[in-house]
Amino acid sequence: MSGLELRKIVKNFGAVEVIRDVSLHVNDGEFVAFVGPSGCGKSTLLRLIAGLDKPTGGSIAIDGKDVTAISAADRGLAMVFQSYALYPHMSVRENLAFGLENTKVAKAEIEARITDAARMLEIEPFLQRRPGQLSGGQRQRVAIGRAIVRRPDAFLLDEPLSNLDAELRVSMRAELAALHARLKATMIYVTHDQVEAMTLADRIVVLRGGRIEQVGTPLELYNKPANRFVAGFIGAPH
Ligand code: ADP
Ligand code: MG
Repeated sequence: MSGLELRKIVKNFGAVEVIRDVSLHVNDGEFVAFVGPSGCGKSTLLRLIAGLDKPTGGSIAIDGKDVTAISAADRGLAMVFQSYALYPHMSVRENLAFGLENTKVAKAEIEARITDAARMLEIEPFLQRRPGQLSGGQRQRVAIGRAIVRRPDAFLLDEPLSNLDAELRVSMRAELAALHARLKATMIYVTHDQVEAMTLADRIVVLRGGRIEQVGTPLELYNKPANRFVAGFIGAPH
């Protein structure tokens, strides 16, 4: 079976159950948004998918292969963080190349990917600059670029726009939609912004207290919210 499969995922931190029995299938190329209030487990679930953390129970499969015990680096996924997580002492170019240099990817291929990503994200003029010399929006583009050059099967994005001002958030939203259309890669997108989820996602996963409340297309959630919580969160009439 193709795509990403979460089967009965549980995650405990000490005695606290943070993710409770989450099962979900994400199709190849699908744009799925995880939404829910602060602390509901969005980032934890994304980290489990990324392999940055191990589930307490359940399993994760990619294209039918169980990857629960496989390291982050070998899952073919790339994560984009809210905090950008760029290296301040490196140029933009070096930031983009970092992590690819000691792999099987040839030097010329790395250069070609950097050029391509820089063009796509319109950060070519900044390749020699350091992150500190860039605006927030430019830094966010570099963070996305660093994921793109790895050619992942799926992008995992944790509130990538939440540090940007409102105007920039709206324009970056359009850029993300264009990027998804162009790359045709799976995107799993964590946000607490329901408008972002409604405009970007093929399907939305609404989380509360570590459980899935509802999964559906934006229209399904809006027209047929499973309960008042979903309706309230989505902004649907209830
Ligand atoms: P969200 O991203 O939806 O805001 P998180 O996944 O960050 O939520 O956190 C879910 C819950 O798990 C919160 O109660 C948080 O305090 C707790 N949590 C997250 N990471 C850890 C950790 N490393 N150790 C202990 N508790 C954690
Ligand atoms: Mg979070």
